[in-house]
Amino acid sequence: MKKITIIGCGYVGLVTGACLAEMGHFVTCLDIDEQKIESLLRGKVPFYEPGLSELVAQEKLFFTTSYPDALNECEICFLALPTPSNADGSCDLTFVFDATRKLRNHLDGYTVVVNKSTVPVGTSKKVAEILNGLDVDVASNPEFLQEGSAIDNFRNPDRIILGVESKKARRCLQELYEPFGDLLQIMDITSAELSKYAANAMLATRLSFMNHLSLLCEKVGADIDCVREAIGSDPRIGNQFLFPGVGFGGSCLPKDVSALLAISNEADKPSDLLEAVLEINKEQKRQFFQKIKTHFGNLSGKTIAILGLSFKPNTDDMREAPSLDIIRMALDEGAFVRVFDPIAKPHLPGCTICRDEYEAAMGANAAILITQWPQFQSIDFDKLGMVMKEKVFFDGRNFIEREKLDRAEFVSYRIGKPNNRVTTWI
Ligand code: NAD
Repeated sequence: MKKITIIGCGYVGLVTGACLAEMGHFVTCLDIDEQKIESLLRGKVPFYEPGLSELVAQEKLFFTTSYPDALNECEICFLALPTPSNADGSCDLTFVFDATRKLRNHLDGYTVVVNKSTVPVGTSKKVAEILNGLDVDVASNPEFLQEGSAIDNFRNPDRIILGVESKKARRCLQELYEPFGDLLQIMDITSAELSKYAANAMLATRLSFMNHLSLLCEKVGADIDCVREAIGSDPRIGNQFLFPGVGFGGSCLPKDVSALLAISNEADKPSDLLEAVLEINKEQKRQFFQKIKTHFGNLSGKTIAILGLSFKPNTDDMREAPSLDIIRMALDEGAFVRVFDPIAKPHLPGCTICRDEYEAAMGANAAILITQWPQFQSIDFDKLGMVMKEKVFFDGRNFIEREKLDRAEFVSYRIGKPNNRVTTWI
């Protein structure tokens, strides 16, 4: 069993720490956020991730804000720190480098410092430079978990990417991940660092491609769901990540595509493709909002109900959530905005926060579904329609069966559907 330290108790750090402790390792999780650590010491996870609370109260899992305590006899130190975007889209490494400088003073004995944050090519080298002179190897182990199913992703990974450039570090990490056997893909550090950005950029490209097709469908009178099923049945394409929507968001896809673009520019290999992926994503939100505006002519004084705030279901993460763009555009047009999300409770100046979907819809001229929370499948549309001023529904995820809305006499709009009519020729 190894003695492991995790620096950064966010979605990635805490899930990694809790799951490694579950595997039997001694894990100390450190964060500079005192409130977060206090909360964890009381057994309370300060954000929503299904199944994580149950794992936090474990004998072999410790929490601290003290670097010396956390690093005492540490064999493997994971960096799970934020890597947000700079204003120009490149990756801001301040958190990673600040934490590494703190490590310098407290590491004792051989340690493998493993970068789990999503970082540009060359970052591990810079981390190694900061730690120069210490008995340390730096490795890269990019994280692929998805918020909302992170525990399951850790326990049943598709693959584990290890970028290592020393035999000792390789042996140490192979031992750690030994239960996952064949799933280990061992490579050089540069390839490991690039792999994470490549994966997220590929996913974002699929989404932007489908979002572009959805706009085309609306123009030419095709149905995006027919097209999606037609192309998804080709095993070379597959069905996943083909669902059009109101645009992608979250803490990873937008920032990672921007960062890969910055890396490409810096390497003198600019990418029109990545530029287009980002631009289509912005356009998708504008076009969705335009539908709302076109329906009403003028949104000033109208009330809209936003259903779902988090960037996707089963998380409370609001980073780059498309709901924020739609809300901002609606407020700018002079609309009153009422919002409801089952879990995410962000501070949204100018909005009325509601306890459920029916309260949000009270007196509204339109309801707008932004996040496909499962509970929205059980909305009673007769009841919803009764509390609304007008029965108008914009489905930003094609999540609610059209027939349900028709039965309750809603005027409804979806994404990538011909004139928003049900196909009548069958
Ligand atoms: P997060 O913001 O949820 O958590 C980061 C934590 O680091 C915070 O609690 C913060 O207080 C702490 N921190 C900041 N500076 C510190 C320091 N000097 N010492 C100790 N703690 C410090 O971030 P996250 O979502 O867990 O993401 C971490 C990294 O993993 C990012 O690079 C992200 O791109 C990547 N990633 C995230 C996901 C995801 O779904 N969230 C998935 C894969 C990869």
